[in-house]
Amino acid sequence: MTITAVKGFNDILPGESQVWRLIEETAWRVFSSYGYAEIRLPIVEKTELFLRSIGETTDIVEKEMYSFADRHGDGLTLRPEGTASAVRAYIEHKLYARPVTRLFYRGPMFRYERPQKGRYRQFYQIGAEALGEAHPRMDAEAIEMLMRFFGELGLPGAVLNVNSLGCPECRPVYKERLIKFLDGVKDRLCENCRRRLGTNPLRALDCKGHGCIEATGAAPPITDALCAGCKDHFDRVRSALHERGTEAAVNHRMVRGLDYYTKTTFEITSTGLGAQNAVAAGGRYDGLVADLGGPATPCFGFAVGMERLALLLNEAGIKGEAPPMSAFIALGGEAAKTGVGLVRRWREAGVPVVEVLGDGGLKSGMKKADRLGAAYAIILGEDELKAGVVTVKDMKTAEQRQVKWDEAAGHIK
Ligand code: ATP
Ligand code: MG
Repeated sequence: MTITAVKGFNDILPGESQVWRLIEETAWRVFSSYGYAEIRLPIVEKTELFLRSIGETTDIVEKEMYSFADRHGDGLTLRPEGTASAVRAYIEHKLYARPVTRLFYRGPMFRYERPQKGRYRQFYQIGAEALGEAHPRMDAEAIEMLMRFFGELGLPGAVLNVNSLGCPECRPVYKERLIKFLDGVKDRLCENCRRRLGTNPLRALDCKGHGCIEATGAAPPITDALCAGCKDHFDRVRSALHERGTEAAVNHRMVRGLDYYTKTTFEITSTGLGAQNAVAAGGRYDGLVADLGGPATPCFGFAVGMERLALLLNEAGIKGEAPPMSAFIALGGEAAKTGVGLVRRWREAGVPVVEVLGDGGLKSGMKKADRLGAAYAIILGEDELKAGVVTVKDMKTAEQRQVKWDEAAGHIK
């Protein structure tokens, strides 16, 4: 019996990894241009961190965490998301000494969900967090940065939805109002939403169940219940987005699955993803740093689902560039010896070269070059050796030309 990967844990194969690299490099470039610096966070945290940040009655904490006791009996969890870790690091290393700290991270996250297209148990996120700024322009800047990132990648059809979840002052008032409404349509809600009606009624608004969608169609919108401060913030975020040329639709049903959000939340969706339609999501979390024992710090952040983004880019024919590879074929011992130095120089000049190893002669060498998927074959035989040239053959067109050793790299490039 051969051993296969664990269900929901994927290999990303060489042909696929190119687009991942494009995503990471583009994120690095775009996010750096806004002053974000990379932070590398551990994959394992104390379970308590997620209990205290994500919230006890969320899907993640209730049923999706990979939690375990290590050999010492300490309760640990494979991180289900990155914000909690970023905030933990921010407090632990006193990064709040600066007025605003802009961070980004990338890496695998783990959630015990039902694996399907666009939904896995190990999945990758690129996230960004801005800690220390309360101004609505912060929200708009971060969202604009994300949209620019998608724009630079060439992602088509991304739609931005925004909402506000209020603050500890106005959300409880809305919650009460919503509970009253939901009580009236209780029989039509799914079991999960009925169970959470008293503790986390907002989740019913973005439940994917048909009954819940219909039953909550006439629910009062949260934006009608916001306090003056939250309403003002929401209005200013929207006009700041407009100023930046970023179009946003207000979606009252988008409530997000993490308890720490306050005020602005947003989601970027694409129809190319089917039911798993969110490619990125985030929002403001003004209470989290203080909840985790740090100084009161307003924050804004988001995370992008890399598998979903890679999927969309693939569908759009964006694969990331792999530089064309050349196969070097030396015929005979002398040519092989001289070839060592030549290949080294071409590689140093930025031309990827694989050596066809073995003494099989030209025909066998060309066959191997073809099966390696080489774009060019570089041949060094006895005649070439004497003349100080190589024969460069374009594997697609079969066109071939003799080029001087020093000019081969330039010719291929
Ligand atoms: P969804 O509503 O699709 O479950 P979410 O609200 O749980 O998403 P977040 O926790 O905000 O998502 O994570 C941000 C992004 O990470 C999502 O928009 C999505 O692109 C991606 N993501 C979340 N869970 C998974 C998963 N299990 N597999 C692949 N990508 C995921
Ligand atoms: Mg989810």
